[in-house]
Amino acid sequence: MKKICNCNIPPNLQKDMMAESIAAYVASLPKEDVVEDAEYERRLELCSKCPDLVGGLTCSHCGCFVLARARKRRMDCPMPGGSVWGNDI
Ligand code: SF4
Repeated sequence: MKKICNCNIPPNLQKDMMAESIAAYVASLPKEDVVEDAEYERRLELCSKCPDLVGGLTCSHCGCFVLARARKRRMDCPMPGGSVWGNDI
């Protein structure tokens, strides 16, 4: 597993800590700005199979944490040539 930063925290713990921080951020988003749980899970499932997901957290095309990007109603997948999510934003 690749390290997210160069501190001495083990990579798996870095990922857990980052995921917790992102989850807290996502929970703080206004309800009108987020997608429903089913759509969020659908997007994350597609990201989990994407070869351009780095370290299980980051999209290599935009640099976003997909746990956050996928929750935002106005965001789409930035895959060159067309969204993997298939949304029409
Ligand atoms: S290109 Fe799209 S599907 Fe792939 S990781 Fe980025 S947001 Fe997810």
